[in-house]
Amino acid sequence: MNIHEYQAKALLRSYGAPVSDGRVVLRAEEAKTAAGALDGPMWVVKAQIHAGGRGKGSFKESDAGEKGGVRLAKSVEEAAEEAKKMLGKTLVTHQTGPAGKQVNRIYIEDGSDIERELYLALLVDRVTSRVSFVCSTEGGMDIEEVAASTPEKILSFSVDPATGYQAFHGRRIAFSLGLEGAQVKQCVKLMGILYNAFIERDMEMLEINPLIVTDKGDLKVLDAKLGFDGNALYRQSDVAELRDETEEDSKELEASKYDLNYIALDGEIGCMVNGAGLAMATMDIIKLYGAEPANFLDVGGGATKEKVTEAFKIITSDKNVKGILVNIFGGIMRCDVIAEGVIAAVKEVGLQVPLVVRLEGTNVEKGKELINNSGLNVIAADSLSDGAQKIVKEVKG
Ligand code: GDP
Ligand code: MG
Repeated sequence: MNIHEYQAKALLRSYGAPVSDGRVVLRAEEAKTAAGALDGPMWVVKAQIHAGGRGKGSFKESDAGEKGGVRLAKSVEEAAEEAKKMLGKTLVTHQTGPAGKQVNRIYIEDGSDIERELYLALLVDRVTSRVSFVCSTEGGMDIEEVAASTPEKILSFSVDPATGYQAFHGRRIAFSLGLEGAQVKQCVKLMGILYNAFIERDMEMLEINPLIVTDKGDLKVLDAKLGFDGNALYRQSDVAELRDETEEDSKELEASKYDLNYIALDGEIGCMVNGAGLAMATMDIIKLYGAEPANFLDVGGGATKEKVTEAFKIITSDKNVKGILVNIFGGIMRCDVIAEGVIAAVKEVGLQVPLVVRLEGTNVEKGKELINNSGLNVIAADSLSDGAQKIVKEVKG
């Protein structure tokens, strides 16, 4: 789960990290008061969406102005004006995809004078099974680009969970970032703060880009992106409260209510599968035969008819879906339950696209019989590759 920059900064501030003073604005009328509460003489007006690259992004609407989603202002009035221009508009960045994201919140912050822009992240490194600090002197830019063109400028330091964070980690990071004097001490302290927050709050990712050295030579967190482990949210209730459902894919949100493992993708073939491994294999084989999956969906082992019905509805609500492949290997999951769910869903929402069904395993005969007698226009398949070929042929011709 992700949260907004202003929420991330409030959380890091509560741990003692140096961040600028700022105010969040939900309505245009509030912008002037919010900006007026800050000292100046420079204000930063920042669109709050769950995507990076805002500064270099652009708005779809021409009346939002030519500048990106991070704007500098020299007066309270100018800051309020920029906030008004961005509110309600659609910001497109390299992370939002072409559809962009609507800006419903603006963060107005006291501007900082920047001496250097650095990059710092904390993440769970799956290779070392440890939490790692990732840092670079090339902050403020697209880190993916730095990784591609000058990978030697990105350094990584993992922390042994037996010792936890130690001052030497912080000193190593400080030296690799070219920090000097009092900055080294600040860095050692700040890295400890970030590490603590990361562990205590069950984060998956913490990215500060840029971490700056101000004109006065101090370290400051200028941007913050936090991602939390969804499986740990049950013990992080105050983090869970920060969830902004308008930032999430509506189909994924709906699926989460029914405890379905669903992830929306860009392709044209909707998939309903049981078991994550089979779901991955189904996506692979669809690609092998020349099409793209519209989603990953694992209905799980003990799915009920209602759950299957909901899953089917979510798949058909995706406008990109030009065909559906139901691929079930019934173990704990019974084929007749899947068949009942599919039939009930089709009766409720109709079937506008071709449907290929491949059933195998527990109660397969009963499942097939239900589908055959349902009067639905279903194309039966016998194996995984047969099913994939049939649905790709239906969709691609
Ligand atoms: P992102 O584009 O979504 O990553 O948003 P950031 O918060 O990283 O802001 C983008 C860029 O705007 C930064 O890399 C800075 O160069 C600039 N910026 C942000 N805040 C300030 C500030 O307080 N002062 C100055 N001078 N520039 C800022
Ligand atoms: Mg940034």
